[in-house]
Order: sequence, then C-alpha cells, then structure tokens
Amino acid sequence: MRKTERAKIILRELHKLYPDAVCSLDDDGDSFHFLVRSILSAQCTDRKVNLLTQTLFDKYAGMRDFADADQSALGEDIKSCGLYRAKSRAIIATSAMLLHRFNGQIPSERAELESLPGVGRKISNLIRGELFGIPGIVVDTHCGRVAKRLGLTDSDQPLQIEKDLTACIPESEWIKLGHRFVAHGRAVCTARKPSCEACALREVCLYANRS
Ligand code: SF4
Repeated sequence: MRKTERAKIILRELHKLYPDAVCSLDDDGDSFHFLVRSILSAQCTDRKVNLLTQTLFDKYAGMRDFADADQSALGEDIKSCGLYRAKSRAIIATSAMLLHRFNGQIPSERAELESLPGVGRKISNLIRGELFGIPGIVVDTHCGRVAKRLGLTDSDQPLQIEKDLTACIPESEWIKLGHRFVAHGRAVCTARKPSCEACALREVCLYANRS
C-alpha cells in the first residue's frame, strides 16, 4: 500500500481513537504563560511543567517580572524542570526581547519567534499552532517515534520527520496530528514496549508487520 493511502487510514484511526486530543501543556489563556511553559518543556514532561507553573506564575505573574528576575533565583524556582540554568537564561532574555523588540506581544512569524532565546522550530510550531491556529506539526519524541514505526518517515531528525509528514498529511490535520501521535505514543506505542497486539494501527504499521 502506498504511503499516502496508509497515511489516510492512520489519520482516520487516530481521529477515532483520540477525537479530543489537545496539547497536554496547560493553557490558562495567557499567551506569554504558554510560551514560558513551552520553553520549560524542553527535555521535561508536560506534567512536571504544569505542576511547576501552578505556583511559578504566582511569583512571576508577567513578562516584566520574568525580564527583571534574578537568574539564579529563577533557576532555583524552575529547577525541577531540568536544564534550569539555560532555561532561566532563555526565559529572562526572551521576556526582555518581547518587551523591547515586540512591544510585549508574542510574534506569529516564524523567523521572529525563532529569534527568541529558547525557541526553536518545535516550540515555534507549537506556539504558531496553539496561539495562532497556523498549521504545523510539532515533532517531539513521541511523534517522531510513532511516525517512524508506522513508516511515515525513516528519519530520526525532527526537521526531516516534519517534512515527510507534511508531504503525506493534509495541512488541515497538522496541528491535531501532533497531539494524536503524542497521545498514541503515551497510551499504546510506548518507547519501551509498544502494544502492537492491541493497536488499531497494526494493519498499516511497518514496525508491526516487519519480518
Ligand atoms: S502497531 Fe505497534 S509499533 Fe505500530 S503504531 Fe501500533 S503500537 Fe506502535
């Protein structure tokens, strides 16, 4: 079966399995808070980030508070999310840039977003999709693993995975697809032991049908 035909079936089944899949990072309606959560999520689980930010935003409510923060103090406050030195530096610098260069607004344009410290392609796709509804596929570890096992890509490189997926998936599905791959990667197609016997995608999965 051709890749585009398999992709259609995969989309249909994922839609049935996870009709309401959403980003698992909390969103309190404050775009800047969502950006901070996104930066904190690098190499950290969304669950830990959500837990930490339940209290972090009591201490640092807005952009100005983060821009003026002492780096070592902020580092201590976000330590549980890992990479705390780099993340505290990035959050302070990003907050200052947003205030001084972007008038306190989160930009939607890719090059502008990716000029912010701590924001690479994955986070810019996430921000563009979640805050602005601009189609993009967020390739995280779950998405990359599931896409490769399914045979929609043979790459381990996020940019190439994104290119391979966008070539066989309609643009209108890109944002939801990332969330659905994450949901499937957590629930069924786990890193250590994928539950292929119980998986609705096994008929079209290269990994499950390897000889
Ligand atoms: S069949 Fe197995 S490897 Fe393929 S998507 Fe399902 S759980 Fe993952």
